[in-house]
Amino acid sequence: MPLYIERGVVLRTHPLGETDRIITLMTAGRGRLRAVAKGIRRTSSKFGSRLEPGSHVTLQCWEGRSLDGINQVEVIEPHRRCREDLARLTVASVMLEAVHHVALDDEANMALYRLLARAMGALETTIAPALLAGFLWKLQSLEGFAPGLYDCIECGSEVDDTAWFDIPGGGVRCYACRTRGGQPVEYDAILLIRAILGGQLGVALNVAAGPAVSTAESLAVGHFEFHTEKRLRSMSVAGEVM
Ligand SMILES: [Zn+2]
Repeated sequence: MPLYIERGVVLRTHPLGETDRIITLMTAGRGRLRAVAKGIRRTSSKFGSRLEPGSHVTLQCWEGRSLDGINQVEVIEPHRRCREDLARLTVASVMLEAVHHVALDDEANMALYRLLARAMGALETTIAPALLAGFLWKLQSLEGFAPGLYDCIECGSEVDDTAWFDIPGGGVRCYACRTRGGQPVEYDAILLIRAILGGQLGVALNVAAGPAVSTAESLAVGHFEFHTEKRLRSMSVAGEVM
């Protein structure tokens, strides 16, 4: 059977039969990959706990007819705190779910893989209040549905203080065009999203928790769900915990 090596972050796992699991990963070279880990639910499994959601691993796989199989696993970074610390787990769950929604099977997306691996690494170290907002907006920008943040989507005039954000419309509205749709949002939230998407993610990640961060995050979720037509179910869990 042909073998291949791949790097990836585990997105989710499902039991299969008595002792196996199907592992879904975001990989560097093959996009979203589903592969079976045989015998992983036996206590003596050679895989141990190396294929938990969030783990960043190198795999050796064999190509199967319908489903590939995992031969060997080496851990690059276990991201253990992202699973064991509840506040981190809720953020990590949303990030993994979002990638699962947008990644395509067998289609390389190095940028998305890198974004996820870096965000998980950052979350393992410290929980920046705007990390989830930053991740979700960056992901949407990568996938080609970034919003318009500077000029009114209706009349094109510059939006520089009072802001309305129109998710279906795809960006900000000026005060004069506000009645045509959208919701009023803190201008600071718009500034934060501009920083995230304008090459100043580092600045955004240093912003303290507050209304601007919450709004940037809820807009990111709403915008994501509108464009992908998929619910981020982990968000409801996050809302209960945080
Ligand atoms: Zn306008």
